[in-house]
Amino acid sequence: MHPRRIRQVSGAGAPSWDVQTGIGPSGRIALSTTEETPALGLPPAHLEFGAALAVYGNTVMASMPALGNWIGRVAILTRDSSGNWIRTGMLDAADGQAGGTSEPAHRVTNRNNRVVVTTSFTAALTSGDLQAVQICPKADLHTHGFANSDRDYIREKTGRDIAPISAPLKSMDEMHAWSKANLADLFDGPQGRVLWVEASFVRALKDGLTRIEFGDDVWMVTQGLGTPSDLVESITSIRAQVAPQVEWIPQLGLSRHCKLEWLQDWMAPWLELGFHRTLDLSGDELAQPIDLFKPLYRAAKAKGMRLKAHVGEWGTPEDVQHAVEVLELDEVQHGIAAVSSKPVMRFLADNKIRVNVCPTSNIMLGRVDDLRSHPIRAMYDAGVKVTVNTDDALVFGKTLSEEFLGLYQVGLFTAAELDQIRLNALTDQ
Ligand SMILES: [Zn+2]
Repeated sequence: MHPRRIRQVSGAGAPSWDVQTGIGPSGRIALSTTEETPALGLPPAHLEFGAALAVYGNTVMASMPALGNWIGRVAILTRDSSGNWIRTGMLDAADGQAGGTSEPAHRVTNRNNRVVVTTSFTAALTSGDLQAVQICPKADLHTHGFANSDRDYIREKTGRDIAPISAPLKSMDEMHAWSKANLADLFDGPQGRVLWVEASFVRALKDGLTRIEFGDDVWMVTQGLGTPSDLVESITSIRAQVAPQVEWIPQLGLSRHCKLEWLQDWMAPWLELGFHRTLDLSGDELAQPIDLFKPLYRAAKAKGMRLKAHVGEWGTPEDVQHAVEVLELDEVQHGIAAVSSKPVMRFLADNKIRVNVCPTSNIMLGRVDDLRSHPIRAMYDAGVKVTVNTDDALVFGKTLSEEFLGLYQVGLFTAAELDQIRLNALTDQ
């Protein structure tokens, strides 16, 4: 720990106390107190916070999930002009959900420098408080490369503001045309890659994503950016600098429209590296039969990877079941076509296949008319283990918190149901 002695500064009339904060041995934000701090109920102690939930400029919100009675407490740490961390607030779960696995959310109201708190994720939804939804732990398990970037971060770094798609498109071709017109060469080359990787982890921090799954597609080895080992090293070091507290699940990607022999060649060195935890197949769902990919999925399974594929976004319910059976998938990306077949939904539920759904993406690509009629409701009712994800936050302009809030506000789910859906993504159990 590299402590700095600081003095609590918030709250007219609030007791002040001396604490030391810094980065602890685990790389997490740490706090030491040398005296009783009655305003917080903290004994003299050295504590390490569980994880930073969100970073807003020089302000960090850090959770304390593993501290018994202190579960649900969130510290707000702000860096002052000298670079010292100052604790400007402490949020406490009003409903006192100590213990257990559900991590309460926190409503932050800072009036006259006084922090008024808090509630659970469900209350964050029912109160329509986007900021409270943001600081709840969430996982985004379906997202892709540069499209995962935080828009504001890209603007700050490059001066380019990427306006998201504003009306539904009619095909993947239109989507590709949009990308070409709006993104052009922004993410090309080594600098472009660093930019989107940074922007992806920044998005995770800002939106309270404690778990995120993304990575490189196998064809990245053709881009002159180095070996798989080089690419893994760069993404790992960016994560260590930007968001060490976020659980990152490295995903290896395949494109459905690429020639099999090419995919096989490109994939081999990645598998040899043995770094990635999941395999995904995306791109044009109708390009070629999914059976062709079986050898690639067998090779990934031999490496212990979790298996996913995009299916049932453009195809049929039978395509979904067939893909799961042939490729031995653990998870399906999209899978919404399943809704029109009760047997296929039963198959997904019985086999505990997690389906990572992206509501706004489905609307903006014309697969679903609107949120109110989104098939995720019927899938949930059929017992399918669904999650909510962004797919392409930069392209569609919705954060994961906004996705959750939107589903609640149109009345598709109750807040308690959405909490269950949130928890479905936080572990792979
Ligand atoms: Zn996708």
